[in-house]
Amino acid sequence: MPLTVHQFPCLSDNYGFLARDAATGKTACIDTPDAAAILAALSQKGWTLDLILNTHWHPDHAGGNAEVAAATGAMIVGPAEVTRISALDREVRGGDEVMLGETRFQVIETGGHTLGHIAYFDAAEHIAFVGDTLFALGCGRLFEGTAEQMWTSLQRLAALPDDTAVYCAHEYTASNARFALSVDDDPTLKARTDQIFAQRQRGEPTVPTTIGLEKATNPFLRAPKLAQRVGAAGQPDHAAFGAVRSAKDNFKG
Ligand SMILES: [Zn+2]
Repeated sequence: MPLTVHQFPCLSDNYGFLARDAATGKTACIDTPDAAAILAALSQKGWTLDLILNTHWHPDHAGGNAEVAAATGAMIVGPAEVTRISALDREVRGGDEVMLGETRFQVIETGGHTLGHIAYFDAAEHIAFVGDTLFALGCGRLFEGTAEQMWTSLQRLAALPDDTAVYCAHEYTASNARFALSVDDDPTLKARTDQIFAQRQRGEPTVPTTIGLEKATNPFLRAPKLAQRVGAAGQPDHAAFGAVRSAKDNFKG
């Protein structure tokens, strides 16, 4: 049975997500960027919250846990690092499974942006909630992990089916697109960025994306092909990735 995803913008550039298992009506929110926005979305849909699924500990992802849990009685599930800012009812790590009614989420370890970052993947419906690991044409900054760790995490996501819907936690796509064009002149990328700029001009979201689209156009996943452009020719793939990440960190586009 399908999983219904309700996506809504909150804070300055975050997305909130409610995921509802159609068979049972069980509902989860992925992260808690903005408690008021999540509670408003629940009431607008007439849904009752059962689970909070955290991807990592950052305040714009777990900062609303206590308020949302207090208002709904939802159980908080996440990686151990979330206890830095919030209580957890269940600690999960890569390889674990989380049931939402009849929907089974696989927990994928995606450290790098933070050390304990995880993603949630519904293998039956090809839906992934990836937090701040993979963005449309981008990836998370390396606040805690190494380039090698993040590259390994991104490869785990790249191994998911091409038609996997990827729900990223921020609308960073136009800025990511400007950077991508500075390091990659691939025609598929150019066509995609034209579409992105038009979508953003119309105020439309560019999330979700898909694994297939990201593998074809995301400069971070394409890093080994761009190694020469970023001064990492002949270096291992994770070093090429690290060089693309540094170039983005210093990009003034
Ligand atoms: Zn973050």
